[in-house]
Formats: sequence, C-alpha cells, structure tokens
Amino acid sequence: MTSDIANIIDGARRAPTGKSRYRRLSPVDGTEVLAEYPLSTAADVEAAVDAARRVARSFANSQATWRGEILAGAARLLRERQDEAASLLIREIGKTRTEAKGETLAAIRLLEFYGNEAFRYGGELLSSARPDNHLFTRRRPLGVCGLVTPWNYPLSIPAWKLGPALLCGNTTVFKPSLQHPLSSQLIVEVLESAGLPPGVVNLVHGDGEVAGAAIVDHPDVAAVSFTGSRAVGESIYRSVNGRLGRASCEMGGKNALVVLADADLDVAVECAVDGGLSFAGQKCTGTDRVIVERAILDEFADKLVERVSTLVAGDLADDNVFVSPLVDDHQLRRVESIVSEGIAQGAELICGGAPSAIESGYYFPPTVLANINPDSRIAHDEVFGPVLALYPADDLDSAITQVNDTSYGLSASICTRSLSHAHRFVDAVATGLAYVNRPTSGAEFHAPFGGIRGSGLGPTEQGRKVLEFYSHWQTVAMRL
Ligand code: NAD
Repeated sequence: MTSDIANIIDGARRAPTGKSRYRRLSPVDGTEVLAEYPLSTAADVEAAVDAARRVARSFANSQATWRGEILAGAARLLRERQDEAASLLIREIGKTRTEAKGETLAAIRLLEFYGNEAFRYGGELLSSARPDNHLFTRRRPLGVCGLVTPWNYPLSIPAWKLGPALLCGNTTVFKPSLQHPLSSQLIVEVLESAGLPPGVVNLVHGDGEVAGAAIVDHPDVAAVSFTGSRAVGESIYRSVNGRLGRASCEMGGKNALVVLADADLDVAVECAVDGGLSFAGQKCTGTDRVIVERAILDEFADKLVERVSTLVAGDLADDNVFVSPLVDDHQLRRVESIVSEGIAQGAELICGGAPSAIESGYYFPPTVLANINPDSRIAHDEVFGPVLALYPADDLDSAITQVNDTSYGLSASICTRSLSHAHRFVDAVATGLAYVNRPTSGAEFHAPFGGIRGSGLGPTEQGRKVLEFYSHWQTVAMRL
C-alpha cells in the first residue's frame, strides 16, 4: 500500500482490510505506479456507516450557521492548497493544468456557496387557522447519506454532494472512484481541518461491486447520491428505491451541438472543440454529436479539422497543453473499439482515429468522423472520449429531431445568431441543460444541474434545489 492512502473512519486513518489490491498506473505513460493499495470490504463500509450513525443525531441538531462556517472554512483551506489540488488532478487523472485549475476553483466555490446558504437555511412561519397555535416548518436532515462518485471530477463532484449534505446536517459515507485516492483524501482533509467532527464524513476507498454495493444496500443509509455510468445508476436507483430509501442518480449523456447556417462558425468550432475534446471528452456533458445545417457542413468540417490540428499535446502541467490522455487502459480500449467499429460500419474518418498517433500512455487522438451508420454503437452509446461525430441536418426542425433521437437527456446546445431559433431550440430539446452559443459542457454551481430520461433519475443536483434531496420538511404545531 502507498503509505499515505487510507480510509478515514470516525476521524482515524485505517487501512482498508480487503485482500485484493488496486494498482493505479499513470495515465500519461501507462507504466509509472502512482498508487497501490488494498480495497475496502463490506466490513469497512459497516464501520463507516456505524461511525456516521453514531454522530448523526448530534450533528443533525447542530446550528446550520456553524455547519456553514465549516464549509466556508474548508473552501478557504482548499483555496490555500489549490496548487497542490490542481497538481493532484493532473497527476492522478490526467487533467490539463487549465482543466485542473478550473475544477479546483469549482470545488472551492461549491463549498463557499453551500457555506453561505447556511444564512438562508430554515423554514417558514405560518399563520395558523387554529387559536393559540404556533405553526412553522423547518428542514431536518435524513441521517446517513451515501455519496458514490465517478473519477472524472474528483474534487468538484464530491464538493457538490458533501456541501449540501453537510449543510442539511447529514452525516456521510463517501466512496469515490479508485483512480484518485489522494484527491479524495484532500477534500476530506480540508473539511476536517475546518472543524468537522470525526464521523461526519467517512471516506472508504473501494470498488463498486463490494464497497459501493455495501453502501447502496445498507438499511441505515437513508439516501444515496450517485454520479456515474448509466447501467450502474439505473441499478442503484432500483435497489435504493426497492428498500424504500431515497436516491439521486446522475448519469451519462449523448449530447449534441447544433450548428445552424446563421451561426458564427468560429464560435461554433470553439464550442465543438471545447465541448467534445477538452479533457479527452471525458465529461458527462461532453459533445458526442455535432449536427450541422447541410449548407455549411463542408465549411464547418474544414474549419473544425484545421482547429483540431492546432491542439497542443505535451506536458499536462504546461498551461498551453490541451490534449489529455484517457483515464486508464480500459477507457482507451473502449473508445478505440467504438471508433474502429464505427469506421468498419461505414463512418468516414476525417481526422485522428487511432491511438498510435500518440506514442505512450492512454492517449487517443482528437478524432472527427462523418457519415455515421445509424446502427453503429457510436450513433447510440456515450463515447466518453475525444471523438466528434458530424451529422447533416436540413433545417432547425430536423436538427431538433436528431438531438432528441437518443434515450439520454443531459445537455444540448445550439450555435445561431437568431434569437427566435434559440428559443425554439430550448423549448424543444428534451434535456436537463440547454445552451445557446456555448459548449454542451460546463456548469454553474449555483444553478440546478442534471439530466432527464437515461441521464438522470431522481432530483437534480446543485444549486438550492438539491437541499430538497438532502432534507425533509418537519411541520411543527405548538399550542401556546
Ligand atoms: P461508474 O458507474 O463506473 O462508477 C461510478 C461510481 O460508482 C464509482 O465510485 C464506482 O466504484 C461506483 N460503482 C460502480 N459499480 C457499482 C455498484 N454496482 N454499486 C455501487 N457503486 C458502484 O462510472 P465512472 O466510469 O466512474 O464515470 C463515468 C460515467 O459517469 C460516465 O457515464 C459519465 O457520463 C458519468 N458522469 C455523469 C455526471 C453527471 O453529473 N451526470 C458527471 C460526471 C460523470
């Protein structure tokens, strides 16, 4: 085990007790061992749930303003450690410096935001219809919440779950993905250093099948907030609802960017590149499909390919570098097979296409395809790689039909100079996020964020709305 990797249970560092081990190789070269450590067992999860349960009542009855101070303090401490945090994201999951700094800042702001929300936290004083009656409502926490997170945002996704969960007075068991153990520990450390009592956040390093499932199935875990892939999210949603718990599952997308003939093509190209190729396309809101009005398809494709040829690869710590590796060998093989299968089924390769274009590590080159066979996997599955598929559209209506022709519903964007087209688009797309002249990716932490249909089950995350998920209302009537 790399000595500094441990579960954090009841404030103590404890080695996971599993016999199987996880070995993390650097995404940049595929050989350097970044971490090697044992996996947690169901018994480790049991200890974490037990610790969370023991402090649940005292934390529930603490003052919200005090919990807010802790969140704000954690934000300050993370700000002080932001260079270290960004370096961890670069090293552990292969973000570029720009992406790593952006994510760190998002995590800081999320903690700040939920810290500040403490000043608005409370309920309503109602005028009672009964004499001598004092009637009011207040938010109450749910108890122990399980937070299960993916690898692509190791700081900001935990921050957008921990922030509201703690503000509402819940205690938590946090199980991140295995690829980034030190980033996961960092966020717990800043909360501890800001004064969070032991047992309120318990970190368990483990895989999904054992540690994740033990959280999801635990009868004392009142709510599970999951972000990750669709198959896992759907099964977690069924399990938690099946045992009458509360679940929120944010999953993947098959996001589309529409480019109309009246668009500023330079803006449209930047939206496609940023939305589909930054962080090697490993964003739930990343662009998979670019639906272009037929009249400008060739011109757009030429401009796009020219721009892709300028994307800088190299040392991720260098501010100018844009190209990230995929997170691991599994992702690389997956993207490679989806693309090669698509080409074998008739897709035209416009640029990129094979990992050998970059020598070492888990790099897949930025790729553009056209003439997609509607029966191929690339037409339906989330790719989660740096791959843009171009589709022609006759007009706005046919573009909208294509945007909605997927079982996902996370993000969609349109590039147009027409206000009327923009409004018709946002009215018609079946997605949780609808953007105009912006990439499909990107979120503002104080606005609700989430998908519908195959992209999201249960309440949406972020903003103030998510407080409904992490709390219930108590109505109090007092005869005076
Ligand atoms: P994943 O589903 O493989 O894993 C996510 C988390 O769930 C991990 O912690 C994993 O260990 C755990 N897990 C896996 N199987 C489990 C099980 N049976 N029971 C309980 N827990 C289990 O996803 P990933 O590969 O880490 O992340 C990529 C996916 O996440 C993509 O599909 C992406 O679109 C999605 N994502 C969605 C959002 C969003 O907000 N909608 C944000 C980021 C990523």
